[in-house]
Amino acid sequence: MCGIVGYIGHREAYPIVLKGLKRLEYRGYDSTGVAIIQDGQLQVHKKKGKVAELEEAVVGKNMHSHICIGHTRWATHGEPSDRNAHPHLSNNGRLAMLHNGIIENYGALKEELIKRGYVFSSDTDTEVLVNLIEDIQKNKEQFYLRNAYIRE
Ligand code: GLU
Repeated sequence: MCGIVGYIGHREAYPIVLKGLKRLEYRGYDSTGVAIIQDGQLQVHKKKGKVAELEEAVVGKNMHSHICIGHTRWATHGEPSDRNAHPHLSNNGRLAMLHNGIIENYGALKEELIKRGYVFSSDTDTEVLVNLIEDIQKNKEQFYLRNAYIRE
């Protein structure tokens, strides 16, 4: 469990989030990532390692945005790696999620989502949650929530 920083406003968002992530470095972490929105599209940049490594990886890239979320990860589900770093996108690319902590029932949820056709590109519990939210957005019927996921 490590750090989350978010910014929305009139200033450049990425440098503010980067500064916040650096302030949280003392807590310890294994990877770093940010998501920004440009022209209505989510862009994700993430790296195993220190905030400085992400900073270096995006040199020369257009990071202009007024919305940014950032994360420093302490792996619980899946090894520290670029692909397991947060944020994670949902299958339709319209949701980005980062989170600290553990989703206890992620295995059951993942199985259900795989049956529904979702594909996963990380080993994290977080990617399961972002796709669950996408799926709920697509299937708003109340019975779905009751029957598919809340069994206990
Ligand atoms: N369980 C998540 C993961 O392993 C979040 C870890 C954290 O709290 O940084 O990616």
